[in-house]
Amino acid sequence: MHKKTISVLFLIILFQGIVLGISGCGQEKVSRQTPQTQVVIPPPPPSMTLTESSNIKNGVSPQKPQEVPVLYYHSVLLEEGNEVRMPPEQFEAQMIYMRDKGYESVSLKQLYQAFYKGGTLPSKPFAITFDDGYVDNYTIAFPILEKYGFTATVFMVSSYINGEGFLSWSQLKELTAKGWEIEGHTLNHPYLTQMDKASVINELKSSKELLEKGLGQTVDFFAYPYGDFNADVAQAVKDTGYLMAFTTDRGWADLKLDEWHLKRVYCFANMGLNEFFRRLQNPNY
Ligand SMILES: [Zn+2]
Repeated sequence: MHKKTISVLFLIILFQGIVLGISGCGQEKVSRQTPQTQVVIPPPPPSMTLTESSNIKNGVSPQKPQEVPVLYYHSVLLEEGNEVRMPPEQFEAQMIYMRDKGYESVSLKQLYQAFYKGGTLPSKPFAITFDDGYVDNYTIAFPILEKYGFTATVFMVSSYINGEGFLSWSQLKELTAKGWEIEGHTLNHPYLTQMDKASVINELKSSKELLEKGLGQTVDFFAYPYGDFNADVAQAVKDTGYLMAFTTDRGWADLKLDEWHLKRVYCFANMGLNEFFRRLQNPNY
């Protein structure tokens, strides 16, 4: 291989490494029962079309009240080659699909009430979550969601508040006033399973208190940074006073699992509408 080609390849690999390094809590995981090496995002089945995949249209909802798709995004902004930044027009196309199919967004509080406290949900519920607290959740995603009548939840890394590229307190307050939920995602976004117990508790507790003080309301829900958890971390989340926690394991939130291991539907740039539809047809996609 030509020396220049090798250098270019090296630069590409280096660049990809940097992109991955700034990509927040990143990609989905399959459930713990499956070996990590099998984590592959499958391409949509070639035979799938919108008409075939959409039995919702005929008035038959595939969703049981015990299973709700909780979508998760990070940033909504065009950046070539960074899959955690969803281009705005792709995000809007997905929301148009949800609106056209009669889905209604529910808050995590509603989900919690329905799952564990006997509350009810609309017939086609779904939830939207954003991890880390990118500023475009406010500048780009918020107006799009308002247009289609949806609200969302931000899992905010509390030390990122007011930081460059991230949400400010005034934006968080405005979102809260408009029905969004701002929930916990630690203080510094660490790998919690790699910390000692006292540090884990500090990450969980200080971030929860900061958000509660700043927003004047309780922070009840949590998402594990990088989807990284074990039994001790889940116990610490519970001990901190959270009511429910979300992983990055693929699947829908499911009442059959306990409230510390709820799965979510990963949404990433260039997933394509067919793959988005596919993930809304089957709780175990
Ligand atoms: Zn994260």
